[in-house]
Amino acid sequence: MAQRNKVNSRRQFIKSASIAAAGLTLLGGGVGYYKKINSPEFNRQPRFLRPPGAIDEKTFIYACIKCGLCVQICPVEAIKLADSNKGLNYGTPYIDVREQACDFSCDSLQCVETCPTAVLDFKPFEIAGGEALKEYAKTHDATKPGFNPFSVQIVAMKSKVKMGVAEINTETCLAFKGEGFKGKPRGEDFKGIYRSPNSKTDKPAPLRDTTFDRDICDLCVTECPIGEKAIVMKTDNSGKSIPQVLDGCTGCGVCVMVCPTNKESIIIKPIREESHV
Ligand code: SF4
Ligand code: SF4
Ligand code: SF4
Repeated sequence: MAQRNKVNSRRQFIKSASIAAAGLTLLGGGVGYYKKINSPEFNRQPRFLRPPGAIDEKTFIYACIKCGLCVQICPVEAIKLADSNKGLNYGTPYIDVREQACDFSCDSLQCVETCPTAVLDFKPFEIAGGEALKEYAKTHDATKPGFNPFSVQIVAMKSKVKMGVAEINTETCLAFKGEGFKGKPRGEDFKGIYRSPNSKTDKPAPLRDTTFDRDICDLCVTECPIGEKAIVMKTDNSGKSIPQVLDGCTGCGVCVMVCPTNKESIIIKPIREESHV
């Protein structure tokens, strides 16, 4: 407990210090920065996959104070801050899902909750969680033991995430070629961790710990934390079993991380959520 308090105080200190530092920076350089973001230079910037809840890209880049709290809080260390060679994106958080996907292991969208500027906006998730609680309460008595809406709230919240959408490369995808997969998808040395929907434990585990054996590759489907609303195996006209991405895809990138082909056969196209501010 003492250790946790220490971490919390440190986090609080960093939060305050970062806000103060960023405030000064913005006062000094904000006007020039704002001009750049609204110039053609903005369109030449590489597009990053942002953490859950990111507001529209221009406002995000301008208003994120680069404090790194979202980086610190993520239990699977999915979030990184962009290097100084990344132009206007310098210091902003992004997720490289091929190396480490956001698998919702935090259970509560902690990066969004912790963001001091609300450029990761918790409101839509809070609303979804509240609605799920109301539905749950219609059929469960809050005064009785066993009343626990937590899991339904979590499902409702994470299903609302829209970081991007998965897109399959039909030329290289093993299933499209009618091929299976046996072994460790990313090899023995891969460091990525996640909480597989098929795991018996709630703790995220290294992908390299699991050996798969599939006659037709379907890892992107079976390991997706969202499930059948996001991606399914379907039979095409020739009777082949192939993955299909659906509207419920959140862009979390677990499918990309687990894809066993040398170059990933599924990618995430970043999309901006509508601005909630
Ligand atoms: S929502 Fe994803 S990126 Fe954010 S803290 Fe949780 S696991 Fe990490
Ligand atoms: S997104 Fe929020 S928490 Fe993350 S670096 Fe920017 S301001 Fe900080
Ligand atoms: S298909 Fe599933 S695993 Fe892949 S990005 Fe969408 S929600 Fe995540």
